[in-house]
Amino acid sequence: MAEIKVPVVRNILQANERLASENRRRFDKAGIFVVNLMSSPGAGKTSLLERTIDALAGRMNIAVIEGDLQSSYDAERIQKKGVQAVQINTDGGCHLDANMIQIALDSLDLAGVDLLIIENVGNLVCPAEFNLGEHEKIMILSVTEGDDKPIKYPLMFQICSVLLVNKIDLLPYTDCDLGKIRQSARQLNPAGKVFEISCRTGEGFAPWLSWIEDKVSEHRKNRAGAAASPHAGKH
Ligand code: MG
Ligand code: ZN
Repeated sequence: MAEIKVPVVRNILQANERLASENRRRFDKAGIFVVNLMSSPGAGKTSLLERTIDALAGRMNIAVIEGDLQSSYDAERIQKKGVQAVQINTDGGCHLDANMIQIALDSLDLAGVDLLIIENVGNLVCPAEFNLGEHEKIMILSVTEGDDKPIKYPLMFQICSVLLVNKIDLLPYTDCDLGKIRQSARQLNPAGKVFEISCRTGEGFAPWLSWIEDKVSEHRKNRAGAAASPHAGKH
């Protein structure tokens, strides 16, 4: 049985890679910067989205894809912010895959969107293995989860280019050692960025917001370049 399981899993991942590349081409053509936001349940993904949208509203056009096991509660929270939001219910599935994103994209109007944030299902394990076509993988770790998480879930910390350490306002009430998180994160991903934030108070948000803004303007340039090309509209 074990000999069968490995190739099946590999085929699933290969099929997912093909669809992820298709998604990526679509995002690049439209000049949209896309992030895949991951964390365990309750680390603060939707709260991060709410505060980030509030801070960037008016400066860019944002859309959100919300992944959840059940319910449309999070998508409703995001829609209240006045941005496009689509809910994917995985019906118990513990991660999003590129095919789900392809289907969700049909429900979004991508024209003029600058930033698409995909909130993955709360899980530190298999979302790490499924590319969605995003440009950057980002994760949130809450200080209430403990400073041993990087060691226990190394793949997630290795593949994410940004680690947001959330709920730093609660640090005095935990035994969490921020230095230990920084050190493990650096060992697992030396090129990764670490931002320490509180989605509740807004502390530490400035560097995170400017990281997003820089990335968005990079990708906007691609779109502007494509529009200025003499071949634009001829294909
Ligand atoms: Mg959520
Ligand atoms: Zn899964």
